[in-house]
Amino acid sequence: MKQRDIFIVSQDGLSPQANQIAIEAIHELMECFPIYKNDYPITNLGAWKDSGYIYPENGRVYLAPYKSTRWHIENAKRVAIDDGRPHQLNASTLFQTMQEDPTNKEIPQFTILLTKDDLYPSSNMNYCLGMGDEGIGCVVSARRFSDENGNIVDRENFKTVLMHEFGHVIGLTYEGRENSADIYGTHCTDEDGLCIMQQRVDGNFSDITRARLALKRENLPPICSDCIKAGNRFFANERQQSNVNKIVRQTLNDLGIYR
Ligand SMILES: [Zn+2]
Ligand SMILES: [Zn+2]
Repeated sequence: MKQRDIFIVSQDGLSPQANQIAIEAIHELMECFPIYKNDYPITNLGAWKDSGYIYPENGRVYLAPYKSTRWHIENAKRVAIDDGRPHQLNASTLFQTMQEDPTNKEIPQFTILLTKDDLYPSSNMNYCLGMGDEGIGCVVSARRFSDENGNIVDRENFKTVLMHEFGHVIGLTYEGRENSADIYGTHCTDEDGLCIMQQRVDGNFSDITRARLALKRENLPPICSDCIKAGNRFFANERQQSNVNKIVRQTLNDLGIYR
């Protein structure tokens, strides 16, 4: 039974290659969870716009809050400009408005927001490649994997980062998990050094990408057994939660309280 949609949305002007790579990345990670993968259909919405996403006022046109991916981006850009970083987007702001978005609450989903602009998480850090949190979604920038024309040239490293951030969304490295450590958030400390849920302090994922591709050639998963265990726990919990909700709804129905 479907639990949630996985929606991929993107900044205007981002190469459509990025969305394609994101679909592949998520699909590949979900392959590690054969029992659950069909509960989460993936849909590419591109530069998403709801009806009424713009409105006129005093002879000008404005973006309605939360009604388009563009609004989320423009909002994060405004914060970045205030922070003196006109060429970047504030990832924390993006993540926050994504979390607050009324549509996210209405339609159960994980949102994957892709940007062409560079991201930074907070004023004390120069940049980040992405940001993701359990049960909500993630924001990933293609900027550092693209050439000056916006073509994605470092495809496999971009894909690793997408898989890694999506791994956070599906709770692979929850706090207090065994074989994990806090390195800019909780990450896997896989002793074989192959798992994509490790964190590289310098932001260089090249060796992890090489390991991922080597595993793939052997038909092995890109995550370690601890991460697989954590994902199964997350998905089982989601199913259980939705069963509880169904029973509550059914009971209210039976009592004639809720229709
Ligand atoms: Zn991470
Ligand atoms: Zn791992």
